[in-house]
Amino acid sequence: MLVVHKYGGTSVGDLDRIENVANRVAKAREAGDNIVVVVSAMSGETNKLIGYADHFTSTPAKKEMDMLLSSGERVTAALLSIALQSKGFDAVAMSGRQAGIVTDNAHTYARIESIDPTAMNSAIEAGNIVVVAGFQGINKDGSVTTLGRGGSDLSAVALAGALGADQCEIYSDVDGIYTTDPRIEPNAKKLETISYDEMLELSSLGAKVLQNRSVELAKKLKVKLYAKSSFSDDIGTLITEESENMEEVLVAGVVLDKNQARVTLRGVSDRPGIAAEIFTKLANENINVDMIIQNMGTDGSTNLGFTVPQSEHENAKELMATFDHDIEGMDFDEHVCKVSVVGVGMKSHSGVAATAFTVLADANINIQMISTSEIKVSMVIDEKYGELAIRALHEAYELDK
Ligand code: ADP
Ligand code: ASP
Ligand code: MG
Repeated sequence: MLVVHKYGGTSVGDLDRIENVANRVAKAREAGDNIVVVVSAMSGETNKLIGYADHFTSTPAKKEMDMLLSSGERVTAALLSIALQSKGFDAVAMSGRQAGIVTDNAHTYARIESIDPTAMNSAIEAGNIVVVAGFQGINKDGSVTTLGRGGSDLSAVALAGALGADQCEIYSDVDGIYTTDPRIEPNAKKLETISYDEMLELSSLGAKVLQNRSVELAKKLKVKLYAKSSFSDDIGTLITEESENMEEVLVAGVVLDKNQARVTLRGVSDRPGIAAEIFTKLANENINVDMIIQNMGTDGSTNLGFTVPQSEHENAKELMATFDHDIEGMDFDEHVCKVSVVGVGMKSHSGVAATAFTVLADANINIQMISTSEIKVSMVIDEKYGELAIRALHEAYELDK
């Protein structure tokens, strides 16, 4: 069997933990599997490197940032390979470039365009454990690129696809996907399986246990994906295609996203094309807009609200200021969060949204914005009630049972 393992920052957080990972990989290798390991930077390392650049400027060139940030993963890859070799295993460390990963030019948020697995395949055939630095590739000009925060998950899934691996195992400090973040709700329950679509919603809505792009790609390439812990032998959670019995479960999980800011535009000229202009401007700056609400216009003007990631709040403010002819006033609120309820069962059951609204009403929490899709309900509320709301929703849908 060919298996891709991915170890996140906490799992390789210090030298003892790298040793622990080496022992786990060695055990799998001894059991007869071919292993490709993808590693993250040691925990805190990427933030430390960002802090170094921040010392000089708050707007460093993205190309230089990629050069800087990609180094964290290379350190871990080299150390893990050295640890494996010291235990008598044949191992080889590779950067993203050596692993054949080619991306587009979007520095710090690049997309993988192609993977040439030739070098990895030869190394595997020669009997090596291949250790790849996650989170990175090169663009067509040969410059190093990175794949966005949490991007080592994406590297792992993409390599599993390119190598035709039997499965991809993502190791972190939790032994699977829970009904909500167990740090917020200790009664959260581990799920045996979850569908790609539900997992994609959970990740996109704020559960950082798997990076959302990695789930999207796993679905596309049909990669058999497991979330497991590097600190236990639990079988973890299988992320897979939707099956009929999944629909019997009304709600798979609830999720909190604290990284949200709300923008409200008042007295926006009610004319064709204005929304296109506003959102094109934001899109051109790669600002991800979510939860758009527009009222019915009256007297030639309307109100428009939307959310952006908190980190893009200042950028959004500057861009909106350029519309001063078309907008009477604007408010920005950084102190909001988004709570969401996710489940494929919603497709065939009604009342899930009504329950969510009732739960928040009973807790005296005001809902500022709502958006729904076939399998989720999201609500923007005051940041200070986020965790309370998650616990109340978790209980209301009996996710602890
Ligand atoms: P790594 O550093 O290994 O990539 P992450 O910190 O990105 O690991 O992801 C693991 C964390 O995800 C857990 O510690 C947990 O607090 C958080 N998490 C959020 N939502 C969930 C969930 N639904 N199930 C499990 N873990 C979750
Ligand atoms: N080290 C990168 C980050 O912290 C990538 C990753 O860990 O997946 O975002
Ligand atoms: Mg992660």
